[in-house]
Amino acid sequence: MSAWTGGTVSPRARCVLAPNGSPMTLEGTNTWVLAEPGGARSIVVDPGPLDADHLDAVLAAATEGGRSVAMVLATHRHHDHVEGAQAFAVMADAPVRAADPQFQIGPGITALAEGDKICVDGLELDVLHTPGHTSDCMTFLLPAERAILTGDMVLGRGPTVVIPPDGVLRDYFASLERFAALAGDVVDTVYPGHGPVLPDAGAAIDYYLTHRRQRLEQVRAAIDAGDVTPRQVVERVYVDVDKALWPAAEWSVKAQLIFLGVAVENPDEVPPNPYR
Ligand SMILES: [Zn+2]
Repeated sequence: MSAWTGGTVSPRARCVLAPNGSPMTLEGTNTWVLAEPGGARSIVVDPGPLDADHLDAVLAAATEGGRSVAMVLATHRHHDHVEGAQAFAVMADAPVRAADPQFQIGPGITALAEGDKICVDGLELDVLHTPGHTSDCMTFLLPAERAILTGDMVLGRGPTVVIPPDGVLRDYFASLERFAALAGDVVDTVYPGHGPVLPDAGAAIDYYLTHRRQRLEQVRAAIDAGDVTPRQVVERVYVDVDKALWPAAEWSVKAQLIFLGVAVENPDEVPPNPYR
C-alpha cells in the first residue's frame, strides 16, 4: 500500500496534506477543499496547523480556476485542525464556522449546529453533531458523493482517541452507531481528518465499534485483575501497541474507566493532552 499523500479524490473533494505527520496525526492533517464542479466558490474544511507553506497550498487549491473561498469549516477544536484558521481566514478573506464559538471568525457568523445545511454554488453539506473524540466534533455529509467528512471521529487508519472529560465514550459509541446507520443508507465513503480515504465506510465503522468494544472488555478484565491506574491498564492491554501511542492510550483508558464507572486513581498521572 502506497503512503497517503492527499490530492484530488473525487469531482468535489481535494485533500491538501499538512506537513505535521506524527504517530498521532498519521501522514498529517487532511485539509479538505470542496467545490461543486463549475462553482465559483469553494469551502475549506480544517485549515490545519499554522504553517505558511501549507496555508499557501490550501489557498492555491481553493482558488484554482479563479474560484474564491466562501467559508472555512472546522470539524473540531484541536490545534492540528484549526491552529491556522485565523491566518487562513485573512488570506482567503473568508469567514470561519465552528461549533466552538472561540474559533468563529467573521460578522454575523453562527456556531455550527446539528441540522445546519450549507449550500455554496450548488455544493451541499449537511452538518451533524457527532461528539466523542471531543464534545464539539462535527461531521459534514456530502450527499452528492455519498461521503462523510469525519474529522478525528473516524481516521483513515487505526483507532482514534477519546479524550476525557471533553470526550465521552458513551457519546463516541452513539456517534459511531449513527455513522453505521448512515453507511447502511446514504454513505459509502469516509473522507477522514487524517490518513487515506476509506472507500468502504461500513467496514471502517464496524471495525471502530468492534475494536472499542474489545478494548473495553480488556480494560474491564485488567481492572478485575487488580490494575488501578490508566498507566497500569495500558501496560497490560496495549502491550501490542507502539509505545509512542501509549500517552494517547492512557486517555482512551481513562475514558473507558469513566464509561465503566470505575473511579480513576491518581488522575494526575495521565499525561498532558497530546492535542493541547
Ligand atoms: Zn482531534
